[in-house]
Amino acid sequence: MSIELPEARILARQLDETLSGKTIKSYDLKDVDRMIRIGFINKNTSDFENIVGKTVFSAVSRGNTIRMKLKDPMNILIAPEYGGVITYITEGEKPPRYHLKLEFTDSSILTIRITSMGLIYVVDDEGLKDSYMYKRDFLRGVSPDEAEFTFEWFKNTIGSENKQLKSLLVGKDASIIGVSNATFQDVIYRAKIHPKKKVSQLLEKELKDLYEAIKTVINDRLSQGGKEEFNDIFGVPGRYIAAMGPNMKDSNCPRCGTAIQKLAHGGGHVYLCPNCQSE
Ligand SMILES: [Zn+2]
Repeated sequence: MSIELPEARILARQLDETLSGKTIKSYDLKDVDRMIRIGFINKNTSDFENIVGKTVFSAVSRGNTIRMKLKDPMNILIAPEYGGVITYITEGEKPPRYHLKLEFTDSSILTIRITSMGLIYVVDDEGLKDSYMYKRDFLRGVSPDEAEFTFEWFKNTIGSENKQLKSLLVGKDASIIGVSNATFQDVIYRAKIHPKKKVSQLLEKELKDLYEAIKTVINDRLSQGGKEEFNDIFGVPGRYIAAMGPNMKDSNCPRCGTAIQKLAHGGGHVYLCPNCQSE
């Protein structure tokens, strides 16, 4: 399952608390040729030699990307954004399937598996600025869980644009960091806005509802341990269930009873209530 802003934040916090101060004893990579060919790991896997013997300093996240900082400035960027599993186990437990396994000097183990598009990338501090993921998620925009994400900012940045909502909220060119297609569907259903509306058509109240819905979805997913298909590094599943999305296929709207529709939109699909979210 995809790892988006709330899930990346939960994982980064756990990695920070669990791994800080631990020293990497060894690493193992699996499925290397394919991973290189599709660009999911360093082209030159000997780069991974640079993390052996290094101590974990901290782990942070922004958007969908996790940055594990090692002392002696090296980094492991982890972005399993379209699907991945990160698991921590202690000595004696059997590791799950992985693409990267890190073993620490105390025999604890971290495994990372990418199940769809994603990235595991070893890079020094100097090289970070050339990383697409790092630039996209760490060096620009405002994240909905940051203090800068005020209604004033939202209104001034997004409010008068004569573009469709999705292009302003989702993707690499959006001013907001970390809103995925899944979050988008959930958010506009809660705000009762049709996906094809342009932002410049929205009333002030609708813009405010949209802003509040983004905050609510992100905060609820954080406080409920992530989405329901997500597992944290200890294997604990998330409890957040999206108000709208593929999970509502063939269902009726809980608010008004209208059959939920699926609409092709912006290079993907959007589930919606055609009554609550009228055009
Ligand atoms: Zn409805």
